Amino acid sequence: MPPVHEKTLHMKRPYNFSAGPSMLPEPVLETIQAELMDYRGLGCSVMELNHRSDAFEEILHGLEARIRRLLKVPEDYAVLFCPGGGRMQFSMVPLNLLGAGVSASYVVTGTWSKGAANEAARFARVHVAYHGNGTKLPDEEMLDIPEDASYVYYCDNETVHGIEFPEPPAAMVGIPVACDMSSNFMSRPFDVSRYGLVWAGTQKNFGIAGLAVVIVRRDLLGLASPEVPTMLNYDTYVRTGNLPNTPPVTQIYVANLMAQWIEKEGGLDVMNTRAIERSSMVYDALDACPHMYATKVDPKARSRMNVTFRLRDEMLTDVFVKEAAEAGFINLAGHRTVGGIRASLYNAMPIEGAAGLSSFIRIFALRHA
Ligand code: PMP
Repeated sequence: MPPVHEKTLHMKRPYNFSAGPSMLPEPVLETIQAELMDYRGLGCSVMELNHRSDAFEEILHGLEARIRRLLKVPEDYAVLFCPGGGRMQFSMVPLNLLGAGVSASYVVTGTWSKGAANEAARFARVHVAYHGNGTKLPDEEMLDIPEDASYVYYCDNETVHGIEFPEPPAAMVGIPVACDMSSNFMSRPFDVSRYGLVWAGTQKNFGIAGLAVVIVRRDLLGLASPEVPTMLNYDTYVRTGNLPNTPPVTQIYVANLMAQWIEKEGGLDVMNTRAIERSSMVYDALDACPHMYATKVDPKARSRMNVTFRLRDEMLTDVFVKEAAEAGFINLAGHRTVGGIRASLYNAMPIEGAAGLSSFIRIFALRHA
């Protein structure tokens, strides 16, 4: 193993625009580093600690309490920590929410809602309430949600395309709404009571990969059929106090550090203000150079989290990524399925990172005009 030097974290790090796993705030990384050899005098790291120890239970309960505080989660909602990252929820949502019903409605706005709908089709009759092409969101009247659907599902921020719902569509209210907030969870406040279930993988705004936070209304628990595997049943997590087995301790530890960092920075309104500021800077730079860059996303659906664009001259895409990296802005290549450029601007991205990228976008356009 290479030696880890004391100065590792204090060197100037590049700004990391990766879509996930993604940048963590330096204070969080520094805390992990400081606690790695000896967590609070216990003589070992959190990764080496028994998950039923008082110290780990404090982390687990601390994380739940902070999520409840930050999002003002009502008492009739359970907060669960499930292993398996994001995609596991594509299965867990239908397996738990279908109940006696056979159909579920999916609003397909891009890659991730489509993936969720495809997985649900293994267990349910899937009704597609809307099928978009990744550039815009449905108008209210475009949504046609059947009354017999057990729930309606949508993705709040489509990470690959960079489209984000400003608000959950009102037309969904009246039937339990299940929402994938993986790439914008903890980036703004939202009204939990409008949802039946919200879930989020943690590797964007809230920590590292492998864990999903699930917030579910308690009356939607207990609906899973007896054949549903124990570890895929939300009730198992409720019944065991989120300790159904050895949980992903590192992910839970890092999410708890993220929650503490968000609270210290001023909470979710501050995260939202910063997200708007960061993304506006980048969109303004792109809009100022229309001869060089094409943005396909409808301006009303532009994501605060993932800014996607293309070079009008596709030959310049790799040049852009390479020159940006040399200038200290790394991981800007678009998702492998769509290409182009994607700048992910999550909670940990400093305003200076977005400002620097905006300048780079303008300078690149001048230099290669
Ligand atoms: N949903 C969204 C919105 C995502 O961005 C991702 C991953 N980028 C997933 C689901 C899948 O998450 P995972 O890779 O943890 O399974």
